[in-house]
Amino acid sequence: MSNAVPDALRQSASAITAADEVLSCRGLSRSYPSGASVIRVLEAIDLSVKVGERVAIMGASGSGKSTLLHLLGGLDRPDAGEVFWQSRLISNLDERQLGEARNRVLGFVYQFHHLLGEFSALENVAMPLRIRRLPTVEAHARAEQMLTQVGLGSRLQHLPGQLSGGERQRVALARALVTSPGCVLADEPTGNLDRQSARQMFSLIETLSHAHGTAFVVVTHDFELAARADRVLDLKDGRLTARS
Ligand code: ADP
Ligand code: MG
Repeated sequence: MSNAVPDALRQSASAITAADEVLSCRGLSRSYPSGASVIRVLEAIDLSVKVGERVAIMGASGSGKSTLLHLLGGLDRPDAGEVFWQSRLISNLDERQLGEARNRVLGFVYQFHHLLGEFSALENVAMPLRIRRLPTVEAHARAEQMLTQVGLGSRLQHLPGQLSGGERQRVALARALVTSPGCVLADEPTGNLDRQSARQMFSLIETLSHAHGTAFVVVTHDFELAARADRVLDLKDGRLTARS
């Protein structure tokens, strides 16, 4: 159990984490109870994501990809193992510190955009900055800049319902990037898109990853898109292995 690890050991574990790692985990395990038995979803997963690196994770439905992203994002706790954000061990943080660190270090994109339907594209993208208490004028200026970078400078006042599926995902990408996170965790961000929109989304991920030095961990079922990442990993039987 992570709570039983002495502080001295935690600090030494944190100290040996490479400085150019934006996100990493060691020995991450997660099981779920299933009736009288237990489903072992993840077994001792190790992963190290470098600054600006794009990592694709592939795996069958139910193989644990979302579970892994939730653990990496500090949205769920592992049964064993440790997660580090920019070399910081997150199990040492209380809920408030965890929330602050998550807001600073990570961005999230999901298969379904999770935009707020009653707010404009601009307001949706400005939201993470408003949560950081940035003044409205500044938050909106940065949100406009980000929406322009994803090709939606002419859609600022559109509500999510007035945008196409591809455009909504680009708004979600802009929202994930507006805080300049070190790493974006994307769970099947193109799973719901046609081929052309999916390609456009991946091209944007490439461009913006280079422009901002942002790392991406992208779960995808799409071989063509995965092949464009720096690294492709397969999740199978609870293990993460590099695709050769
Ligand atoms: P993927 O994203 O690769 O499709 P998930 O991470 O969502 O897979 O789920 C992995 C496995 O863990 C599945 O068998 C799923 O049923 C199970 N699982 C996920 N979340 C829970 C939960 N909260 N309670 C019980 N079982 C879960
Ligand atoms: Mg999933």
